[in-house]
Amino acid sequence: MNELANQVAVVTGAGRGIGQAIALKLAGAGADIACVDLKLEFCAETVQKVQGLGRKAWPFAANVSEAASVEATAEQILAATSKVDILVNNAGITKDGLLMRMSEADWDAVLDINLKGTFLFTKVFTRSFLKQRSGHIVNIASVIGLIGNAGQCNYGASKAGVIGFTKSAARELASRSITVNAIAPGFIETAMTAKISPEAREGLLKQIPLGNLGQPDDVANAVLFLASPAARYITGQVLSVDGGMAM
Ligand code: NAP
Repeated sequence: MNELANQVAVVTGAGRGIGQAIALKLAGAGADIACVDLKLEFCAETVQKVQGLGRKAWPFAANVSEAASVEATAEQILAATSKVDILVNNAGITKDGLLMRMSEADWDAVLDINLKGTFLFTKVFTRSFLKQRSGHIVNIASVIGLIGNAGQCNYGASKAGVIGFTKSAARELASRSITVNAIAPGFIETAMTAKISPEAREGLLKQIPLGNLGQPDDVANAVLFLASPAARYITGQVLSVDGGMAM
């Protein structure tokens, strides 16, 4: 049960939703957690819950899409934790709209946070992973990056990008026993999917063989597996957690 004892995990977008579930799942397996969100106060609830599980937790503020912010936060994280074993790039946003009407600003915002954010956060910890000759990086992609969705060209491109990034980084870091994998969640019950209209939800359920939306914990279970010693021989993979949507 304590397969992550003495490990430190960094989770971005840890304040709520899937990120909070991931932080709690890894803490439940024995890891101490560096919680990153846009503002320090957004991390408060997660930090309190992790501490309630008897693990250490630190709040950090960073905008994952800004290099200077990411670099400053990474320095603070390493100063507080002295090492990082697991990185979960989870922070992400949607700004949906039909292609013809999609603004450049909405395209850039989604690509900057979902894809560039994953690059920046992975880059800042790479030196430390390489020195340790170990590490597990788990990137949260999406079923939309695999099969696409009308109204989500920016989001689909960002998540397909995350998958391409994952595979290239996996090849680059494999010789030092660092694994890099992605999870492609389907539709999971969080604030992000709460915006879906009842009619759209009805249509969506028809596309999910298991017949219901997933829970944040379903994604967190997959992250725990990929971050644990049980997955030491798995790298460059995309694990779908989508009720069978993309098969
Ligand atoms: P969520 O409830 O909206 O949570 C996203 C988290 O990311 C929030 O804590 C948010 O902070 C943080 N965040 C946003 N922009 C940030 C930035 N620039 N820098 C730092 N943190 C930032 O979303 P979720 O549903 O849990 O999604 C988590 C991840 O799973 C995302 O990458 C998403 O694309 C992916 N995903 C979700 C679903 C789904 O159905 N929910 C499906 C597939 C993939 P604030 O509180 O400040 O907004």
